[in-house]
Amino acid sequence: MMALAGYPLGLKCLFLDRSGDAPGAQVAPIVLGELEDAARLAELAARSDVVTFDWENIAEAALAPLEKLSVIRPPRAALAVSQDRLEEKALFTALKIPVAAHAAVDSLDDLRRAARKFGARGILKTRRLGYDGKGQVVIRRAEDIEAAWGRMGGMDLIYERLQAFSREVSIIGARSAAGDIVYYPLSANTHSDGVLRYSVAPFRNAALERTARRYLKRMMDHLRYVGVLTIEFFVVDGKLVANEMAPRVHNSGHWTIEGCVTSQFENHLRAICDLPLGSTRPLGHAAMINFLGRLPERAPLLAVEGLAFHDYGKEPRPGRKLGHCTILRATARDRNQVLERTLQYLARNAESVDFTPGG
Ligand code: ADP
Ligand code: MG
Repeated sequence: MMALAGYPLGLKCLFLDRSGDAPGAQVAPIVLGELEDAARLAELAARSDVVTFDWENIAEAALAPLEKLSVIRPPRAALAVSQDRLEEKALFTALKIPVAAHAAVDSLDDLRRAARKFGARGILKTRRLGYDGKGQVVIRRAEDIEAAWGRMGGMDLIYERLQAFSREVSIIGARSAAGDIVYYPLSANTHSDGVLRYSVAPFRNAALERTARRYLKRMMDHLRYVGVLTIEFFVVDGKLVANEMAPRVHNSGHWTIEGCVTSQFENHLRAICDLPLGSTRPLGHAAMINFLGRLPERAPLLAVEGLAFHDYGKEPRPGRKLGHCTILRATARDRNQVLERTLQYLARNAESVDFTPGG
């Protein structure tokens, strides 16, 4: 999606990936290799004016030597902090951005103590390398603690109080090296089993949006950020509680491809290539639905007015994100109706949305 956004601007992408059938390889040349292989990274950097990433678990240390060969954007410091849930929360807190009550857990005793302090309704997460709800165990009562430790013990962990949120929202923005920032409208995100199922945007709530922008700007300015940054929030008692951030284009921003004047992918490229940032004005009311595990048939969905279909060309695997569709309509009411119909259709016809709509 990044390469496709760069194409009309004359920006040529080159990818590093472990697999020759990575989605990027369908639309741009690829360097094959492990993501932290020093020689491959050096080759990538030597052949590029600017190096970026759309996956945040690459070791910061692996990127450090590339700074002699190319420009790395966003800055490595942003990568480092978003790789560790504990450090990430410490930075949110230092910037006066609220987070869930939490504690580092390195032993069963730590976990028991944290559960006593914050309540036995919580989530035990690995500090590093988690995504799409992987590396997480929900604890609902004190009796769950030992089993949770049995599954997760031995890794660096964090225990977070379970948030009774009314919804989850995310904000995405792009910052230029000069410090200009553009913000996308809030997106309201529905997850199940820790995986994003669908997003609805713009999610209109002027007060929440103002606060989200303020938090995002504070974080971006602090990191002297260049590129697209995402912060995910819980809405708890009408207030934002930061969950995590992603120093990259984000799944909850895929709707901006059709839904905004300039997509998150294009604005990321514009930012890292020192081009003027583009307008983030929404073009209507959008909903984005992930295709998980199996792609639905194209034709019936393409018959829906205002629906755009994205097939990433990935090998199907249970639960894997294989593509998405975006619905764009003129009114929120219309969008909501089409979303509901499409979710029901997918639940009937594909494994892709295997859950109750709205649940
Ligand atoms: P990942 O890196 O896998 O996206 P997250 O921390 O964002 O990890 O967790 C995935 C999802 O799990 C969240 O979007 C949310 O739905 C749920 N979740 C995570 N932490 C909490 C929490 N403290 N309270 C309630 N729900 C949570
Ligand atoms: Mg998340």
